[in-house]
Amino acid sequence: MPAEEVFVALGGNIGDSQTIVAQALDALANISQTSLRASSSLYRCAAVSDIPQDDYINAVALLDTNLEPMALLLELQAIEHAYYRRRDQEQRWAPRTLDLDIILFGDRSFNDSHLIIPHPEFAQRLFVLEPMFEIDGDRFIPGYGSLRYLIDNAPAISLEKVT
Ligand code: ADP
Ligand code: MG
Repeated sequence: MPAEEVFVALGGNIGDSQTIVAQALDALANISQTSLRASSSLYRCAAVSDIPQDDYINAVALLDTNLEPMALLLELQAIEHAYYRRRDQEQRWAPRTLDLDIILFGDRSFNDSHLIIPHPEFAQRLFVLEPMFEIDGDRFIPGYGSLRYLIDNAPAISLEKVT
């Protein structure tokens, strides 16, 4: 089987998020049967939440993997746990140390109770689309359109590259 191209979104807003997200990018490069082809800059993004909280640091990685989607998800969750990610059962969009989401997995669709691919909200999230555009600006996503089109139609948010 040829490797599949996978976009992974990274985000965090507890602790030293710039360091955590940068280290998580290195951790992605060490997943078995997987290589890190490209990683975006880090971006700072105001939290989308009713709960007052710090800005998020976001980034996107492009991986080549021979793992199946569920196996890759387990690898990502192991990396999240390494940073003592807090899971808050009550509140969605609560602060977290590190969130790793599979955005696209080749052209595959997947939908069960543990994993939905493409990620159901990516097209509405400029903090995912802008870093994707940085590393793969010509990408056309079947069923969605070009990244340029998605960016032009996503809800506006405050997002800046971390220098
Ligand atoms: P969110 O990412 O929505 O803010 P969590 O990271 O806490 O919330 O994810 C909750 C669950 O979402 C995970 O346990 C995982 O099984 C599931 N999930 C469904 N689709 C995906 C995906 N594409 N990438 C990562 N997790 C996913
Ligand atoms: Mg997640």
